[in-house]
Amino acid sequence: MLFDTHAHYDDDWFDADRDQLLSSMPEHNVGLILNPGCTVKTSETAIHLAEQYEFMYAAVGIHPEYSMGVTQAEIDQIRSLSEHPKVKAIGEIGLDYYWEKRSPETTPPREKQKELLRIQLELAREVGLPVIIHDRDAHEDCFNIVKEYTDICGVYHCYSGSLEMAREIIKLGWYISFTGVITYGRAKKARHIIENLPMDRIMIETDSPYLTPEPERLQKKRVRNSSLFVHRVAERIAEWKNMTVEEVERITMDNGKRFFSID
Ligand SMILES: [Zn+2]
Repeated sequence: MLFDTHAHYDDDWFDADRDQLLSSMPEHNVGLILNPGCTVKTSETAIHLAEQYEFMYAAVGIHPEYSMGVTQAEIDQIRSLSEHPKVKAIGEIGLDYYWEKRSPETTPPREKQKELLRIQLELAREVGLPVIIHDRDAHEDCFNIVKEYTDICGVYHCYSGSLEMAREIIKLGWYISFTGVITYGRAKKARHIIENLPMDRIMIETDSPYLTPEPERLQKKRVRNSSLFVHRVAERIAEWKNMTVEEVERITMDNGKRFFSID
């Protein structure tokens, strides 16, 4: 069975068929799903879904995109949500500089983002949970902060950095997670990284409903991503690592269970 370690079923793109879709996961070989939060509200929804479905787990946190105007009361809410037995990580948290040039008016300043990242890393340390890191176009700043927290564990989700940085990350005992982006074209850079990483540090995810893998994303009509396509990521890794898909499935499932402390 596959473990989709990062999917946003709180997204309104799932409103029409969320329950039907989630109920069908076990019969489609999807054994576990982790739904991270991006705000207090979506963190609450993630927990609500985890209460409804035995195979679903949640993470709680505030995404860097929402760094502006975060109050102490919201941080306290995240702390109390993190006590729920199905909450297995703080996330997703991190830095996102991608939107700086594209929409400077609405992108939180770097210093705000860094401050919120540090607050949530400290929270993770306090409550004893691992973290899910979102790092988009902020590799150096993000890793410099992460390195200050060597006593906690984390995963870099939708990894887009270099092989050199990936090696530094796993030296900390952390994990690296890949999405359907590795199915786009030949993905030479991702292939190089994956070929050189030990299998016991790799997790797979969809980041649903976004980042639909190929070939589904090449269809004329825009295809929504879901955990039904997480096997595409496993297949790509199997091809590059010269392994069977079943082996990749089993190892990434074990890695995810170990990382998130799921029995
Ligand atoms: Zn995400």
